[in-house]
Amino acid sequence: MRIVIYPGTFDPIHRGHIDIAERASKLFDQIIFSVAVNSEKNPLFSADERIELILESTKHIPNVKAYSTDGLIADFAREHNAVALIRGLRHVSDFEFEFQMATMNHHLNNDVSTLLMVTSEHYIHLNSTVVKDVAKLKGDISKYVTQNVMDRLLEKFSNP
Ligand code: ADP
Repeated sequence: MRIVIYPGTFDPIHRGHIDIAERASKLFDQIIFSVAVNSEKNPLFSADERIELILESTKHIPNVKAYSTDGLIADFAREHNAVALIRGLRHVSDFEFEFQMATMNHHLNNDVSTLLMVTSEHYIHLNSTVVKDVAKLKGDISKYVTQNVMDRLLEKFSNP
């Protein structure tokens, strides 16, 4: 069984993330989202909420799992017998950071290779921060997230 880890903050999951997961599911037998708990990004949603939203938004993709972690991704990959890590690449500016992470993760866990998947052009300008900013100002985010995520964002911003 070829297992791939998809690490990130996913605060919340959006269609750019879903697109990468859909395409990864054609290459691997199982995708495990690794949700960063102690993210420096100061998440709006708790790790459990982010996991719930990931599982709901990816129900159409076979064999998806999601767990939180506050440890090293290289160790998480080892615990789950993963052969690869997948990351989305939006801009050239993402490359330097991703290259450094991929090299470090390979040093820490020789059994894992990093795949950098180029984002679909529709989602190049999408990130979780933009989604939250637009939702907060009551803008239309229906093109960027699934209905469940939209509902939860509206709920968060109407009852902060
Ligand atoms: P963000 O908060 O910017 O959405 P995350 O930490 O949740 O970022 O990202 C997790 C992974 O998803 C990273 O590999 C990131 O490059 C990728 N990703 C983020 N946004 C997109 C997008 N719009 N299209 C494809 N991949 C993306």
